[in-house]
Amino acid sequence: MVGIVIVSHSQKLAQGVQELAQQMVGGAGKCAIAAGIDDPENPFGTDVMQVYQAIDSVYSDDGVVVFMDLGSAVMSAEMALEFLAEEQRKNVILCEAPLVEGAIAAIVQAATGANLEQVLAEARGALAAKTLSLVEMAIAQVSPHDALSIPSSGNQELPREIHLTVQNQMGLHARPAAKFVTIASRFQSKVTLKNLTNNSDAVNAKSINQVVTLGVRNGNKIAIAASGLDADEVLAALQELVEANFGEEVGERETILGQNSIAPEPVKNKGEKIQNCLFGIPASPGVAIGKVTLYQPAFLTVEQQKTENPQAEWQQLQTAISTARHQIQILRNQISATAGEEEAAIFDAHLLCLEDPVLIQRTRQLIFEDTFIAAAAWKTVIDETVASYEAMSDLYLKARAGDVSDVGQRVLRSLVGTVPTTLDLQEPAIVLATDLTPSETAQLDVTKVLGICTVLGGANSHSGILARSLNIPAVLGVGAELLSLENGALIAMDGETGQIWLQPDEQQLNELQIKRDEGLATVQALKTVAQQPAITRDGNQIKVMANILTVGDAKNSLENGAEGVGLLRSEFLYMERLIAPSEEEQLEVYQAIASTLSPHPLIIRALDIGGDKPIYYLNLPQEANPFLGWRGIRSLLDFPDILKTQLRAILRASYQHPIKLMFPMVSSAREIRAAKEILATAKTELRTEGIQFNESLEVGIMIEVPAAVVMADKLATEVDFFSIGTNDLSQYVMASDRTNPKVANLADAFEPAVLRMIQQTAIAAHKANIWVGVCGELASSPLATPILVGLGVDELSMNSSAIPAVKAVISELTMEEAQAIAYAVLELDSAEAVKNYLAAR
Ligand code: PEP
Ligand code: MG
Repeated sequence: MVGIVIVSHSQKLAQGVQELAQQMVGGAGKCAIAAGIDDPENPFGTDVMQVYQAIDSVYSDDGVVVFMDLGSAVMSAEMALEFLAEEQRKNVILCEAPLVEGAIAAIVQAATGANLEQVLAEARGALAAKTLSLVEMAIAQVSPHDALSIPSSGNQELPREIHLTVQNQMGLHARPAAKFVTIASRFQSKVTLKNLTNNSDAVNAKSINQVVTLGVRNGNKIAIAASGLDADEVLAALQELVEANFGEEVGERETILGQNSIAPEPVKNKGEKIQNCLFGIPASPGVAIGKVTLYQPAFLTVEQQKTENPQAEWQQLQTAISTARHQIQILRNQISATAGEEEAAIFDAHLLCLEDPVLIQRTRQLIFEDTFIAAAAWKTVIDETVASYEAMSDLYLKARAGDVSDVGQRVLRSLVGTVPTTLDLQEPAIVLATDLTPSETAQLDVTKVLGICTVLGGANSHSGILARSLNIPAVLGVGAELLSLENGALIAMDGETGQIWLQPDEQQLNELQIKRDEGLATVQALKTVAQQPAITRDGNQIKVMANILTVGDAKNSLENGAEGVGLLRSEFLYMERLIAPSEEEQLEVYQAIASTLSPHPLIIRALDIGGDKPIYYLNLPQEANPFLGWRGIRSLLDFPDILKTQLRAILRASYQHPIKLMFPMVSSAREIRAAKEILATAKTELRTEGIQFNESLEVGIMIEVPAAVVMADKLATEVDFFSIGTNDLSQYVMASDRTNPKVANLADAFEPAVLRMIQQTAIAAHKANIWVGVCGELASSPLATPILVGLGVDELSMNSSAIPAVKAVISELTMEEAQAIAYAVLELDSAEAVKNYLAAR
């Protein structure tokens, strides 16, 4: 029996058509659907792999007919064919008949045992009767304000054309063009667009790049032509969009987001609080004054190689495009949540760029006809597209070249692998970026980066934490206004208050310079004192450790007075690369860090993935709530090989080095037991291989989930120590995403709710005779030191830059005073009250 496949953006639509048809044939049809995408927030879309699987599930030598709804459904179906074997492909027909009428006619016909040709003929004729009866009415229904329309001849295949004037302030730039292309793509008709004002050629209205490079500005006249069965509908929809000014307010100007683009607009004040100032989240203290440099990720170059297997190259390109789409969708969701839907909409243009039929068709041609490898073909087409933007005189359109290039590089990174991103600063500067990944922040040259300001992020996002550990002043989560700054503009920023001065005057500069110099002098003096152990006035020693990533950090931490490392975030070894690091590679790094610290101890945290730490080669799925999702030990246990490799490396490094192991994001005893089982297997393997390791390696867990606090007495029986991760614990206790600037301030570890959790954990640990540390950011705050000491925390692990100040506070306390402070703040009712109480002491 001929199989039928329905490809639709909407799962409900596809299911409805399938059910209706199956009902007509008493369930006898062979029909599969590929509809919607796996994104709860935006479930509409089509997925190439789903289409391929649907075809495969109904395939037989009798053939398969595929029906599609709109735009990208057609492209997904075309791409899915590429995954089929050559001999299968000729039996699969993509049918141009309308989805509902065509698919139902085909299913009914196929159920009679008709062959492929008969099924196709039935599907193609399915619309005829309806067309005949409705065409007259459709012509009569043309809206009266189509005064400028060229009248229809009544023949649906002849192009119909309307002329309109574009009235929105910015013309057909990224966001309005994205809306225009999205609507045009929903219809089957061929749609073209002309800029009558500059007498352009007609371009494909379903191609984002062609539409944008027409250069349609405010006041320009355009001609939209459509030919096909739904020509009237598409013209009416586009007319409505243009006449509604693309949904823009009058006078609204576009902010062009994207790492390479700046909108050359006059500087605006966020919140208009103070003239010429922007405000963000204070993420790393210190004053910086200097010229700004816009961060641009490293650029990939590609050799113009030829291939003997175009098919394989084409498939690789499809995979790379899918990966890029996934990444952009994540970024879009993040920006929508942090900066708002308006700002996020720019990424729709990025997504459309990946689906641009003209761009895809040209790439395909270069691969199959000119036998270019996928990367070379894609790069060539992207370069051509970028060049066409750059050739434009309009400054706004020129800036769009950056967006195309950004999308192009994203796909290339998937094709040829990531290269380390570098910020090659010629002279000291303040770095501006949309966002910085942890590894990008980690790679910053601390001798040249005076400060960091980003559109996204919060104090406890990893870029914030890293900035503190690198001693770089940082103001994060400033909002898109930041990108309106010109490269080279002089600004001043204060990472303690979150304030950015856009054009500081002389008096402001003088005051800020004094604050900066005083800060640096204090840091230097404290470092010297910090080489002494941290002992309270009444003789209690508190261990003060560092949180680190690299060997370089380990050295730096010792200079700051660290007595070892309480948290090595090992995930940074796994990020920004194509495959997981090998056992040998990890062993080398762990040994190097342990030797640098010797004789001080090193706690290595097992890979903590998920949340804001993506690892692309693990293909972690996009999750609606990544922080409540498959992260930390939850995902680690599902990658037992990766975990075992890491545990073997840690065990081997523990031979003759004081190394301890710690598991992240534990929420139940079951998880600890499962992880310890894998540890036991790793130990058995090493014993069998005759490789030495520390048989009594201490094992601890992070306490960062409320469930772990509540169950701390039980968990304590499974491990040798606890380390409280207040960054995650705060966000989970306060139910506020630590990377979302809108609520990040709520995830405040000074909240009495969080402090009570710390108290509860410390009591449970001591009852079970194990020690407890804090390695979240709260430990880095000298203000919090008396509370943590008073609550009985045995070890504080922090950004090494904070060590001198924390040690100084400890040496001024007695245990009795610390306990009094701790118990007093536990009785307060807000983070603010706690901070005020501490500040007033
Ligand atoms: C924490 O959550 O406090 C912690 C130390 O872990 P991370 O910040 O790496 O998630
Ligand atoms: Mg954590």
